[in-house]
Amino acid sequence: MDNNKLAELLFPHIKTTAQQYREEIYPKRDLPEGAMVTRFAPSPTGFLHIGGVFTSLVNERCAHQTGGAFILRIEDTDKKREKEDGISAIIDGLDSFGIRFDEGVNKNGESGAYGPYTQSFRGEIYQAFVKELVEKGLAYPCFCSEEELTAIRAQQEVDKAMPGYHGQYAKCRDLSYEEIEANIKAGKSYVMRLRSPGKPGGRIKYKDVIKGNIEMDENIVDIVVLKSDGIPTYHFAHAVDDSLMGTTHVIRGDEWVPSVNIHQQLFYVLGMKAPKYAHVAPVMKEEDGSKRKLSKRKDPEAAVSYFTQEGYPKESVIEYLLTLANSGYEDWRRANRDLPYTEYKFQLNKMGQSGPLFDLQKLHSVSADVISRMTAAEVAEGATAWAETYDPELHACLAADKAYTEGLFAIDRGGKKPRKDIAKWSDVKGYCAYFFDGLFSREEAMEMDKDLQKEILERYLAVYDENDDKDQWFGRMKEICPAIGFASEVKEFKAAEPGTFKGHVGDVSSVVRVAVTGRKNTPDLRSIMALMGRAMCEQRIRDYIASL
Ligand code: GLU
Repeated sequence: MDNNKLAELLFPHIKTTAQQYREEIYPKRDLPEGAMVTRFAPSPTGFLHIGGVFTSLVNERCAHQTGGAFILRIEDTDKKREKEDGISAIIDGLDSFGIRFDEGVNKNGESGAYGPYTQSFRGEIYQAFVKELVEKGLAYPCFCSEEELTAIRAQQEVDKAMPGYHGQYAKCRDLSYEEIEANIKAGKSYVMRLRSPGKPGGRIKYKDVIKGNIEMDENIVDIVVLKSDGIPTYHFAHAVDDSLMGTTHVIRGDEWVPSVNIHQQLFYVLGMKAPKYAHVAPVMKEEDGSKRKLSKRKDPEAAVSYFTQEGYPKESVIEYLLTLANSGYEDWRRANRDLPYTEYKFQLNKMGQSGPLFDLQKLHSVSADVISRMTAAEVAEGATAWAETYDPELHACLAADKAYTEGLFAIDRGGKKPRKDIAKWSDVKGYCAYFFDGLFSREEAMEMDKDLQKEILERYLAVYDENDDKDQWFGRMKEICPAIGFASEVKEFKAAEPGTFKGHVGDVSSVVRVAVTGRKNTPDLRSIMALMGRAMCEQRIRDYIASL
């Protein structure tokens, strides 16, 4: 058969050749030694799974820490899965985690020299490569109807043969030019299939960067490369795109491992170098003692919107995902508390072969640590921005006076053992309610005789001076101790015979704390009172006295 004639019959409209795409239109990248070019290639389903953020973070780290490039490619060849706004939901989701792309689809369209980066705009490119395969006798049109394919499958069952379009079952493999031409003239619809060079019983081997050596059967199926509408299958688009775009490492979900034989073969027939593969195991969840994939349907935390709504800062989610990605990350973080995560040398080949467990409690503690390392201004900003969308009442308080808000987050911040009261922005209301009259409620009371509490507070109000420094402030508490039969030093109280004192200076400050904040435990009380100011503190104390 004259393959060139067949190629012209099938693709008369394709003028740019595969060779031109390979050599002229998509030139080789000029990259430093060891630079990795990676990509994240979601379908526009509008749903960003936390596992997708995980995979894209791994891709991003590999590209950026080696001086390579990170691409966002949209794989929209399956129109059934597409959702309106599906692309922007994914772009916004990744953006909200600070995952930065160098090339590809973005909010304003796309940028980069290796586009288009949306597969539905690349139709002619794929067709040019199929045309070249036809010229080489490596692809052919298949006119089998659904019924015929079903009949083939049924026959294979009877024969106990491997399913798929191959060998004797590949009915259209050897159609003549005349038959093809007649079918086309008759308006029969057809797909384009690869004429697989694979041999039954053949094996292939490849080395997965994460999973190590993998061996599997060679592909012998004449897989579909172009569907009847001229749109490529995932397999074919993957091979063409990752070759032309110069992807060095395909880092993707491990559900694709069984397809590597197809992919290797496609790169081979296309005469293009296959990238390295790293297959990432899915993020898991523990349920009733066993592990299963984190599920979009069952687990709210599978959706990235969950983290935004709960108010986990993006830094926390990224930090947690890095602990899942490399087991050495936590040790590194302990040794380098203040370095950005980008300083960590991520190792793709140290990723686990089985899926890491996604544990919300662990995320919580990682996040509390991340927030404890933030500045007061960062905490104020994060919490205020979150509250604007999710808690208008809190937002009104936090946004009213920026300096006051920053001031409250500055209390007890920093130092060797920072407090870790806030793990997510939705914890902030509980943390800071007493700083705002609009949010304040009395949560705890003192177990102390009410008259005694009154006396303490009245005496305290008589000496309270808002201009006192730290020592003077505590001095006032001591000052009132003798008159009420309290020890002005805790040491003194402990050394004395029981019954000598009714209490000690610490009890005095506890009463003041409960009066001012409505709680028994708070950060540094003097700082709290200094920030709240005299009028507010005095009012709280008077109200408390009145309530006793
Ligand atoms: N579009 C494919 C998916 O969503 C991408 C797989 C890949 O990264 O190659 O699963």
